[in-house]
Amino acid sequence: MDTPHDREMNEEIKEALQNNNQALAIEKIQERLDKENNTPLKIAITGESGSGKSTFVNAFRGIDNSAEGAAPTGATETTSVVTPYPHPKYPNVTLWDLPGVGTTKFPADQYLKHVGFEKFDFFIIISATRFTENDVKLAQEIQRMKKKFYFVRSKIDSDLYNERRSKREFSETRTKERIKDNCIQGLQEQGIQSPQVFLVSSFELRLHDFSLLTETLERELPEHKRNALLFAMPNISQQIINKKKEAFQAKIKWYASLSAVGAAVPVPGLSIAVDAPLLAGVVTQYVFGFGLDRPSLKRLAEITGVPFDDLMTVIISPLAARKITADLIIKVLSQCASTAALLAAEEGARFIPIIGIPVAMGLSFTATYSTLNFILTKLADDAQRVFEKALQRNTTD
Ligand code: GDP
Repeated sequence: MDTPHDREMNEEIKEALQNNNQALAIEKIQERLDKENNTPLKIAITGESGSGKSTFVNAFRGIDNSAEGAAPTGATETTSVVTPYPHPKYPNVTLWDLPGVGTTKFPADQYLKHVGFEKFDFFIIISATRFTENDVKLAQEIQRMKKKFYFVRSKIDSDLYNERRSKREFSETRTKERIKDNCIQGLQEQGIQSPQVFLVSSFELRLHDFSLLTETLERELPEHKRNALLFAMPNISQQIINKKKEAFQAKIKWYASLSAVGAAVPVPGLSIAVDAPLLAGVVTQYVFGFGLDRPSLKRLAEITGVPFDDLMTVIISPLAARKITADLIIKVLSQCASTAALLAAEEGARFIPIIGIPVAMGLSFTATYSTLNFILTKLADDAQRVFEKALQRNTTD
């Protein structure tokens, strides 16, 4: 969805193109594309020591507790200062591991000043048990400061494990309902009217309420911040993969415009010319965004127990799990000559008058448009298949 500012930028691009001012058009398009990549999103994670904050921060960023740059974890107090952890692929998104309010000796209002609450887009308050009086005071103070907060009840996997062992008639649904009701009731008794509580296991983000949490966050964020959150989110559901695809798709017309006004090289065997380095950059974003790069696939294999080679068997696109270079793009395109890549050319053509691309550049625009659309669809399909494959282990066990 375009904001009024986006629409204003679109008009500027159109004008520059119509005036044949290519340098200005490139600058404006680049600005338009960069704006999204640079939108800051700051997420505060707070809760008592040992509640699982650091593990949550690492899981959200898709990295292991033991990886370089991971938030330090452990059963003793590890978070005594306010520490930002940028997302490894989207550094505009930072998760802030905050000390528990109880460990700082500040009352809730001073605590918020101490951590610099204004900069945060929202707060996640984590507890591995019932929420404490400190958690509630903090939530009330956050509300007074007109910021949003969400309660995460962590380590739900351990609760389920323990309950399964101790009960003869175990029901996961009933156990989760009971834990959630218990948390909600406790919060209500302490004066929070309709608390939102999400049951999460940082070891298994694709299970339990993590998806619900991300959907809620996305819905409640201002529009211009939504894509920042979406791209930084781990691919824990088919819906997220689809939404990422749509968000990528919405940007294709701008990359196609860039390539139309920039330098293009012919693709051997095809009657098109494309700006291959530009395509390589965009395709790298797709591969990263869908977690189809080698490190992400390896990590997925580790987490799910589905071997890396098994995950690779469902990947069809020759662009996944590879370093994307301009040469590779040209090679792949020339090998799939006359495929659907070019059949969809007309689809891109409808943007030519809307964006204001001069007719002479239309061919290059549609070639890039169709190429990116084609590659995006293939990679999104791969991501869906990888997701299903990775899930097999979890569902059959
Ligand atoms: P922090 O002090 O709040 O940052 O808590 P940590 O992230 O260091 O976690 C404390 C301990 O709880 C560590 O041993 C983690 O491995 C463990 N832990 C954290 N999250 C989970 C979870 O979702 N499930 C389980 N079973 N253990 C967790």
